[in-house]
Amino acid sequence: MASTVCGWCGDRTHMIPVSKPIRVPALFKDVYTAAFQCSNERCQRLSVGTVRREGRYTAPEVEMPKELSLEWEPRTIRRPEFPNVPEQIAVTASEAHACLSIEAYRGAVALARAVVEATAKDKGITRGPLVAKIDEMHQQNFIREITRQIAHEVREGGNEIAHGDLADEPMPPEDAEAIVALMDEILEEVYQGPARMLALKQNRLDREQRNTAKQNGTQSSP
Ligand SMILES: [Zn+2]
Repeated sequence: MASTVCGWCGDRTHMIPVSKPIRVPALFKDVYTAAFQCSNERCQRLSVGTVRREGRYTAPEVEMPKELSLEWEPRTIRRPEFPNVPEQIAVTASEAHACLSIEAYRGAVALARAVVEATAKDKGITRGPLVAKIDEMHQQNFIREITRQIAHEVREGGNEIAHGDLADEPMPPEDAEAIVALMDEILEEVYQGPARMLALKQNRLDREQRNTAKQNGTQSSP
């Protein structure tokens, strides 16, 4: 049975065929498309599944729902939130993920670079190429040594984007995923981790204050 992450509800569900497969005109391949219904009780919306194959089905209604890899519309578009990151940087980071989820790899990499540039600028680091800014972020203890090293390893793909050689160079999905993962890690180390630690510290101070107030209250009561 066809199973996928439903583009409407985001759950991994079984897709139940609700229309006969239609064979559509296409060059070189045999392309079939059909309507499917999400089996999630709370969703039940329709998606279109499409398959491209060599040669026709003999019994499309039986064979097509058994396909393991259909293309689905709508797709699931990931837009994660970055709650402790300055708003404009957070929105751009979220868009980098959205690009990844629709396989717009060059777009994802270009945005991920913009996010790292903006993060450095937010911390007052504005000089030199991106890689120098990443080194400086490490110098100033915003990011870890391992993160700096990985940034050096994955930077090549990103640099091609910046230098406008984009159309000449392939952008394999793994490279784009690595660059977006690096962006996530930098946001984690610069903003999100410290924000969580500050919240812990604040909680502790609040608790101490409450305890002191309680003790004072006990002492002053008759
Ligand atoms: Zn659904």
